[in-house]
This record gives sequence, structure tokens and C-alpha cells, in this order.
Amino acid sequence: MRIINLATGNAHKVEEMQALAEASGLPVKIVAAAPMPHVAEDTGTFAGNARKKARALQSILLPGAWVLADDSGLEVEALGGAPGVDSAYYAGPRGDSAANLTKLVAKMRDVPEGKRGADFTCVLVLLGPVSGEQVFEGRCPGTLCREPAGGAGFGYDPLFVPQGCERTYAELAEAAKNKISHRGRAWAQLAAWWRQAGI
Ligand code: IMP
Repeated sequence: MRIINLATGNAHKVEEMQALAEASGLPVKIVAAAPMPHVAEDTGTFAGNARKKARALQSILLPGAWVLADDSGLEVEALGGAPGVDSAYYAGPRGDSAANLTKLVAKMRDVPEGKRGADFTCVLVLLGPVSGEQVFEGRCPGTLCREPAGGAGFGYDPLFVPQGCERTYAELAEAAKNKISHRGRAWAQLAAWWRQAGI
């Protein structure tokens, strides 16, 4: 059983990542960084931000530790890729997810069917003793509906309908979301690499 230090101060994220690790079949234990150094997520890319968080945590751990960081967000075609890397702060610096969702509903009000495409992206950056840096990207294409639907999940889940699905992320059970989500897809790649590397 390997220990992976997760570059986050958010306990919910640790649980979510542990569930994804288990679903991918990897014998790893995800632990929270304590304390996670403050990192400005200002690189302009998901990979850049994840790399910055991973390196910040690595710099305070003993050499040889496994470190994982993620960054994710929603890119909306009709909005030129917004909110993108600013997904958490779309409606302002407080990071109010209900206000972010309300703002997105309003911005998309007059956008016709056929032009409501959106992609969720998750980038995972893994730093380890044997292999340097590994970067995994998972994308989930979909469309935005007009009114929020569903009570599960978080963030923009109630507005996002993944391709091939008739329900929003927020109408899916967690395990069903994880199978198709941007985060689940990034984890599937990480797990494939991990197995192939024989760790
Ligand atoms: P983080 O990188 O996981 O902290 O996510 C950044 C922001 O992207 C979140 O605050 C949400 O606004 C949005 N986001 C990322 N993943 C999801 C998801 O699975 N559902 C809904 N919103 C998400």
C-alpha cells in the first residue's frame, strides 16, 4: 500500500480522491497535506496550476514521497472557454459555488440549442521517487441545460449533461459520475500508468 500526499487543504477532496483511487483498483492511501502551503493558482492553465500545487507540497515533504495535485474546471464553448481555470471564482473572489452557478445560468440564457457545448477537464500531476513528473488529463464533453437539475455533487454539476447521458452530473450517483467524469477519466489514465510502471 503506497501513501500519496494530496496537495489540498480540503478534507472532502481527500475522500473523493480515495474513492476514485479505489474505483481504479490501485492499492493506495490518499492523505491530506498538513498543512498545505498557500499557492496562487495563477498560471493560466490546469496543468500549470496543478504542477505548482504539487511542487509546493513536495518542497515541504521528505524526499521520495509521492505527491498528487489536481486542477479542474468547466470550459464553455459559447463563452470562449470561460470560466475555465477560473471556475471556482467565476462570480467573485469568495468562491461561492451557488453564485457561480447562477451566473452561468444567466450567461447561457440566450444561447440556443446546438451551441451549448461545454467540457469539464481535470489534470492530475503526480510526483514520485521513481519517475519524476507524470501528467494525466481527463476530459468529459457535454452540454449545458437551461435550468439546474439534481441535488448531488457540487459546483456546476446541476447544469452539465455529459455526452451520451440524459441527466446532469447532479442527477447521477457518485459512483456513476466517477465512471464517466473528467476526474474519473484522469484517474483511469493514472492507474494504467501506475500498473504499467509496476509500482
Ligand atoms: P478544483 O480544481 O477541483 O478545485 O475545481 C475548480 C472548480 O471547477 C470548482 O470549484 C468547480 O467550480 C469546478 N468543478 C471542477 N470539477 C467539477 C465537477 O466535477 N462538478 C462541478 N464543478 C466542478
